[in-house]
Amino acid sequence: MFPNTSPSAYLVEINNKRILIDAGIGTLRQLGKIKISPEDIDIILITHWHIDHYAGLPKVLRAKKSKPLSVYGPPLPVFARIYMTLTLSPLKTNYETITDSFSRTYADFNLKTIPNSHNADSYGWVISDNFSNISAGKRIIVISGDTRPTQNVLNAARGADLLVHEATYMGKDAQKAHLHYHTTSTEAAEIALKAGVGALALTHISRKSSRLELQNEANKIFPGVIVPLPLDTLYLENILDEDLRKNVGRAKIRIMHGTGGAE
Ligand SMILES: [Zn+2]
Ligand SMILES: [Zn+2]
Repeated sequence: MFPNTSPSAYLVEINNKRILIDAGIGTLRQLGKIKISPEDIDIILITHWHIDHYAGLPKVLRAKKSKPLSVYGPPLPVFARIYMTLTLSPLKTNYETITDSFSRTYADFNLKTIPNSHNADSYGWVISDNFSNISAGKRIIVISGDTRPTQNVLNAARGADLLVHEATYMGKDAQKAHLHYHTTSTEAAEIALKAGVGALALTHISRKSSRLELQNEANKIFPGVIVPLPLDTLYLENILDEDLRKNVGRAKIRIMHGTGGAE
């Protein structure tokens, strides 16, 4: 379900690799605004097959001319398969189905799924770097995807530098959040607090929610909550302590859309 939310898409850059997570409608246009071509993207992760997360995917894939992109996501439901086939006919895509225990190690980063609680087969993602031997520790970004608050996300987020958690609803709309399998700002902040994350960014906000109110609610539980605007960039280096910062390379996440109330 996507109750009045904006389309979702995030671009993580880690050790000079680019990972696109979800591709709601308009993602190619948003990438163009920050001068990123689909040619520059190394891999695409899909959290789930709700249209606000994939309507823009065919355009991104079609614009990739050099070689087909690898896409990882849950099993394609019939409606998504039809949509993709109709809009993507000539292109071959390497599509790999993910599971609860999916993880992958590359030279520059690691991927891991988080099984979600949503009204679709849905996963969050953990993206971390491979510098486990340096004193600063790993850099870990956790993206919740669409979900109720879960122990799975909490466990995955323990010690993460940044948790990007959906907060479709304000705290007072807890019943709606429960009904539609989403999370409120206060629930997301409680997870961030329990997990001890470095920073919390709230996204996937309903157009009916007030960004400021939502931020204030979450701040009372977890101080310093970020509610990013479309095309904002969050640098993990800014989030880490000053003396840790020099030990780590570059890592950042760009919020392509996903903060509905602002648009
Ligand atoms: Zn959804
Ligand atoms: Zn959604």
